[in-house]
Amino acid sequence: MKRLLISDLHLHANAPERIAALLELLRVRTRHFDELLILGDLFDAWIGDDENESWVDPVLEGISECARRGMSVGIQHGNRDFLIGEGFTARSGATVLPEYLMLEVAGEPALLIHGDQLCTDDIDYQAARERMRRPEWCAAFLGRPLDERRKLAVGMREESRQAAGTLRQSGSEMILDVAPAAVDAVMAEYDVRLLIHGHTHRPAVHQLAGSRRRFVLGDWDRTGWCIEADDKRCELIEFPIR
Ligand code: MN
Repeated sequence: MKRLLISDLHLHANAPERIAALLELLRVRTRHFDELLILGDLFDAWIGDDENESWVDPVLEGISECARRGMSVGIQHGNRDFLIGEGFTARSGATVLPEYLMLEVAGEPALLIHGDQLCTDDIDYQAARERMRRPEWCAAFLGRPLDERRKLAVGMREESRQAAGTLRQSGSEMILDVAPAAVDAVMAEYDVRLLIHGHTHRPAVHQLAGSRRRFVLGDWDRTGWCIEADDKRCELIEFPIR
């Protein structure tokens, strides 16, 4: 099974080069793979499956085209696009993956997650995350008119940018990275020596004690990141975005 993994594209209307890079990946790079897995934050904000901005259509169409070719396309919820639901899957042909996904990668069991679950030092973030994932919160948010949700999403993005900025200024930006204890705990719980995630925008392959490895996908900006994985190999790859 040949898999292509991406995350943290943070697509939005004002990032046409990133959208174009994804469309190219869907059209060209995916042809060598059986499965495309998107480990969250495909979108900078997903305010509901009734999203109707014009740039969204080609993205969903591109994914749908992969699915029609017989490729399996799975998407995990990120913290920016956890409202992806059945409307999205119907429009794109993708499947929503479990939050904790176990797969065989490079000949061993691997755990794939978005990664924000491991940022346990960020107490405020984890509290907000818990609140916003409740069905009542989601239902209330999705019950608002689309333009109102759009404005709320802009406000939430700004708040999170400010919170991150404050942490950076006070020299506490490690809070935004995964907590080593949380990494150890989740790898022990799922009994894996291979962990793959995104979210932190700190692309790397970490060698951990006990011949364990932690692959971190990067966010897409001037360059894009992907992981190519099959029965023997797992490789983090950076590529230019024009
Ligand atoms: Mn994220």
